[in-house]
Amino acid sequence: MKITFPHCGSAWVPLKSLFDRHGIECIVPPSTSKRTLSLGVKYSPEWVCMPYKVLLGNLVEACELGADTIINVGGPGMCRLGYYAKLHERALRDIGYDFEMIVFNWEEGGIINLAKVIRQLLGGKLPWRRVVAEVKHGLTQLKVMEDIEKQVHWVRPRELTPGGASRIWRGAPERVRAAYAPSDLQTVREAVLAELAALPLNPSARPLQVGFLGEFFMAMDSFCNMDVEEELGKRGVQVHRSAFLMEWAKAWLFLEALGFSHGKKVKKVAGPYLSRDVSGDAIQSLGETILHQQDGFDGIVHVLPFTCMPEIIAQNIFPQVTKDFEIPVLSIVLDEQMGKAGLVTRVEAFVDLMQRRRRRLEQGAGATNRAG
Ligand code: SF4
Repeated sequence: MKITFPHCGSAWVPLKSLFDRHGIECIVPPSTSKRTLSLGVKYSPEWVCMPYKVLLGNLVEACELGADTIINVGGPGMCRLGYYAKLHERALRDIGYDFEMIVFNWEEGGIINLAKVIRQLLGGKLPWRRVVAEVKHGLTQLKVMEDIEKQVHWVRPRELTPGGASRIWRGAPERVRAAYAPSDLQTVREAVLAELAALPLNPSARPLQVGFLGEFFMAMDSFCNMDVEEELGKRGVQVHRSAFLMEWAKAWLFLEALGFSHGKKVKKVAGPYLSRDVSGDAIQSLGETILHQQDGFDGIVHVLPFTCMPEIIAQNIFPQVTKDFEIPVLSIVLDEQMGKAGLVTRVEAFVDLMQRRRRRLEQGAGATNRAG
């Protein structure tokens, strides 16, 4: 068995680590690149959303390397995500690949379903106590990746020489993957965070605070969003991304089931603008924007793929939210035609706008204080 899966954030780190520990050959698709995208585009309908094309491109590249067992996600969602696994399977068989596809339905059975799928992938004989330990270790690896990434977001706009945090971040996944025991994982976590803490910082930096949200996959995938987080960081902006796999797992696998997740708060504030579930992350995009405004953020960057139905709904409601809550929103629609130069120009203009807004608000507050 040569197992593979498409890329989704840092998910490859615990998956590869798990299969390596159990001696199962695992083919991680090459990092998503222009070639990946053009393969996906070649075998996809033109109108389909970009994540579908990118994930298909990942699977084609993995099959080229000999993968014969594919893990894919499925579910009953109202948007195209619910069809991904079925359509990917047909496209790959049409190309001529022979494989078995195992579909993980993330909306069915939560953590118990996850444990069952992992046990099946490991041969179906592992004692449940070991399966639970494996799930726990994998989720902890994801959490470590996210702790590191959040710290990278904090350091980037403050570092004296841009690039140091990104360099450390690029080396982190392989180090976390190789941490097989919980104690090793803690050692790696502390070492990487210590390296980030050792970077020289600008003591007078006052980074702009930006909420980074939108379609889950596009927000997490730096190839698809053209490294917009890094571009913002280099320009003195601290990014607070809503989409993290572990945050999602906490909501869907644990806390949502217990009825007290952050999602409830998000739905409540988004309710006056969008109360009906239109699938995807539309409600989250609107709700998080309002919550970020209430927390004093300087702006919102909203990323979505061209033709994404849920996020187009959110994008059309944003003008009203922006007006009611007086927070600037930059919506970036991405597809395979998008050029980086145009994106950078828009990011620069948005940073300029947020800086002027902050100065205006601070001067207004200063005048009120003097008058008081
Ligand atoms: S949320 Fe949008 S981009 Fe994501 S699968 Fe659904 S339609 Fe496609």
